[in-house]
Amino acid sequence: MSKRKDRARFLAQKEQNPDYTGFRGQGQSSGATTEAPLESITCSRCGRRRNVAAGVVLEHPDDYVCATCQEELDSEAEGASVPADEQPADEEAG
Ligand SMILES: [Zn+2]
Repeated sequence: MSKRKDRARFLAQKEQNPDYTGFRGQGQSSGATTEAPLESITCSRCGRRRNVAAGVVLEHPDDYVCATCQEELDSEAEGASVPADEQPADEEAG
């Protein structure tokens, strides 16, 4: 009943399928991941141009908000909405 067995099995499966990297790895070479290419994008809030990772441009072609504006938004939201306490999942004990 130990979880180690599951883990060992998982690792063994992984060894058998070295190509399997999950959803996202498909088609992408597992080369350099640290140096992402930068692209310039205009912040939809302040209108300034920012250099961000190309992936960000793809995700927010029209509604990009730069870090500075995001900080402002965060400080604005502060106090407006207080997150409710998260309840521990007691039911799953055992
Ligand atoms: Zn901005």
